[in-house]
Amino acid sequence: MADSKTKKRCSFCGRSENEVGLLITGMNGYICDSCATQAYEITQEALGESKKSAGATKLNLKELPKPVEIKKFLDQYVIGQDDAKRFLSVSVYNHYKRLLQKDSGDDVEIEKSNIIMVGSTGTGKTLLARTIAKLLHVPFTIVDATVLTEAGYVGEDIESILTRLLQVADYNVPEAEQGIVFIDEIDKIARKGDNPSITRDVSGEGVQQGLLKLLEGSVVNVPPQGGRKHPDQKMIPVNTKNILFICGGAFDGIEKKIAQRLNTHVVGYTASQKTATVDRNNMMQYIAPQDLKSFGLIPEIIGRLPVLTYLNPLDRDALRAILTEPKNSIIKQYIKLFEMDGIKLTFEKSVFEYIVDKAVEYKLGARGLRSIVETIMMDVMFEIPSENKKTYEVTLEYAKSQLEKANMARLQTA
Ligand code: ADP
Repeated sequence: MADSKTKKRCSFCGRSENEVGLLITGMNGYICDSCATQAYEITQEALGESKKSAGATKLNLKELPKPVEIKKFLDQYVIGQDDAKRFLSVSVYNHYKRLLQKDSGDDVEIEKSNIIMVGSTGTGKTLLARTIAKLLHVPFTIVDATVLTEAGYVGEDIESILTRLLQVADYNVPEAEQGIVFIDEIDKIARKGDNPSITRDVSGEGVQQGLLKLLEGSVVNVPPQGGRKHPDQKMIPVNTKNILFICGGAFDGIEKKIAQRLNTHVVGYTASQKTATVDRNNMMQYIAPQDLKSFGLIPEIIGRLPVLTYLNPLDRDALRAILTEPKNSIIKQYIKLFEMDGIKLTFEKSVFEYIVDKAVEYKLGARGLRSIVETIMMDVMFEIPSENKKTYEVTLEYAKSQLEKANMARLQTA
């Protein structure tokens, strides 16, 4: 019958239009909904396989960035913090080398050196971690230690740290097992007091014990969706032996412990000589593992974080540089925003000094720079896209009037 020939049919399974749910028309044929779904599944599977096989072997030491190159890259985004940058660059490079050592065949096994970075809040710890992630060749994730609690309490299980890593690796376990995890706010799991029996320290020592397992290198059962483990959930075993952990924390008040240690050590007739060389404005640079212990980290954890580095407090010059120098500095971002409206944005030089003065005066740090600039620019950003201007200059007078109009106290609490 002519009818059966003219009837539209799926070019893959041959079923006619009324035998399928949906028939999609192509240039020279048709595809039905179930064949389309099947085709999608086949492609996903094939792509997944090729990703998996590429995962474990794609590292090649010759092509990987060397420590000097890693640091140069960090320099484009992060101002100062040279020591932390060098430590990070070397550790990441060594991490790659460790991953590649399996093929070498001799008995020398390179062990991992997890890192701990100590520095006041807003000095660039997370920024360093985020920036390094841009050039890494292995899965990378940032997790926050504040949400972790001992098993059985409200909060997240320690294993959930690895859930995020699994997710960025598309649940490809061998790839996740070579990844890097940045644990932010590690100081928040410090032991709260010397006597943990008075009140249960569910987010302190217990969590540290759990974390120790991850840092040491062991097979951990990870809940694929994170959060709390529950009995019916299927767990994914992940070996943490080759996962590099970078920890960061503000360790508020640790300067006092450093000072105490330095003072108690310099007794006797060399005392005056030694104390004279201590830079009281930046105690962080003298940090040693025993200070972390006095702060409340257990010695076993400290032992598993052999690379200890620090971040400097940001002085006036650093804040001034942060405003305009990094590749995506705040000011560059505003210039770009205006450029998209066809407007050339410029600033009187004295405006930058003024912004930094205010950030220092109100102790807002680097984070506050953005809120100050935002306050200054808000009205202009509201009005200028509707005006027919090609250029706009922010004058000192205008910046002052805008900030005076706004409530600086509001910025302080932000
Ligand atoms: P923390 O040390 O608390 O992790 P962040 O890295 O989150 O601090 O810094 C907060 C913001 O301050 C960053 O997003 C960045 O804009 C700015 N900032 C802080 N330190 C620096 C720095 N050294 N160089 C450039 N920007 C910085």
